[in-house]
Amino acid sequence: MKKIVDLRALVQSGADQGADYHAKPDGHWINSTVIATPLSKYPEYQGSRRSFGIDVLGTVLVEVEAEDGTVGFAVTTGGVPAAYLIENHFRRFVVGQPASNLEVMFDQMYHASLFYGRKGLPINAISAVDCAVWDLLGKLRGEPVWSMIGGKMRERQPMYATGPRPDLAQKLGFIGGKMPLPYGPAHGAAGMRRNVELAAQMREACGPDFFLAFDCWMALSPSYALQLIEALKPYNFHWIEECLTPDDYAGHRQLVEQRTHPIMIASGEHEYTRWGFENLLNTGVDLIQPDIHWCGGLTELLKIKAMASAKGRLCIPHGSSVYSYHFGITSDATPFSEFLMMAPNADKVVPMFTPLFSNETVPVDGHVCVSDAPGFGVDLSPDLRWSRPFQP
Ligand SMILES: [Mg+2]
Repeated sequence: MKKIVDLRALVQSGADQGADYHAKPDGHWINSTVIATPLSKYPEYQGSRRSFGIDVLGTVLVEVEAEDGTVGFAVTTGGVPAAYLIENHFRRFVVGQPASNLEVMFDQMYHASLFYGRKGLPINAISAVDCAVWDLLGKLRGEPVWSMIGGKMRERQPMYATGPRPDLAQKLGFIGGKMPLPYGPAHGAAGMRRNVELAAQMREACGPDFFLAFDCWMALSPSYALQLIEALKPYNFHWIEECLTPDDYAGHRQLVEQRTHPIMIASGEHEYTRWGFENLLNTGVDLIQPDIHWCGGLTELLKIKAMASAKGRLCIPHGSSVYSYHFGITSDATPFSEFLMMAPNADKVVPMFTPLFSNETVPVDGHVCVSDAPGFGVDLSPDLRWSRPFQP
């Protein structure tokens, strides 16, 4: 097996950064739609999530190079701070390793960063390194990632769409639609009424059978979430997502136990590693949503998926474009996947990581076919400018 001889962490400047979903130009729905957040209780942060800094990190690109010159790469949210950790800390656990030593690389990076890591940015950085090595390994073997992790369970992956217009996503062929929840506890009874009105309006627009969900982005309390669940009962929502702060495992259990109808409780977009997901799964949630670029990478996601599968829960990764498609199409616990509507008005399909790749697969009629090209099967757009803020 070829050894890895170099690792590089690169960043870009600019308003549209691809892997950091929230680094988008003004006017994009992800920044201009009213969305409830844990900061909504502060009037100065009730507008765009950019007001509290949701887009401060940006994208980081990790390249790993083998001794024959083959280069694998991957991306995550993390920007310059992630580049610092990758170049100054994680590099030593990667350079010199055979490209197939994914387990030992994850184990060393994770344990070496325990004193400041475990969750958040350091695990984002580890995730990008791990996915870059998977891409390299596929290129060295001439094999797509989906083939290396068990082969396809289905030829096309059904997709649901995340964005403010499930009614438009339905017309584009998606199997379901998930909206950001506009209002949280700080908006009181009027906010609750408007949330429920939106649910009613979208159910009316989409008909009785299209699956609908609300994404609550950690904004609610258990009591508010339970009130909302009860109010959604007439509208047959498929799930309610990330109602609570990720650390409130007892609150997640409370939602599972006290929901008044069989709406699924979903969470995990901001959970990390097998240890975090063990805690989350033990609350009884029906559906976990690890992000392959945040949760520890593909090496860790495969373990997390196995835990969900053993408990009969769904594992529907958050976003992550082709990286998630390669995983999803192989997974028994992932009968469908998420597509983030990244067109500014959520009215058409554009590549999820626009403008990063020159050849990013997109859903057609709400289904994705995964590339047979080696690794994750994407190339970087040639017109992006990258810089390397830290040299080893
Ligand atoms: Mg979400």
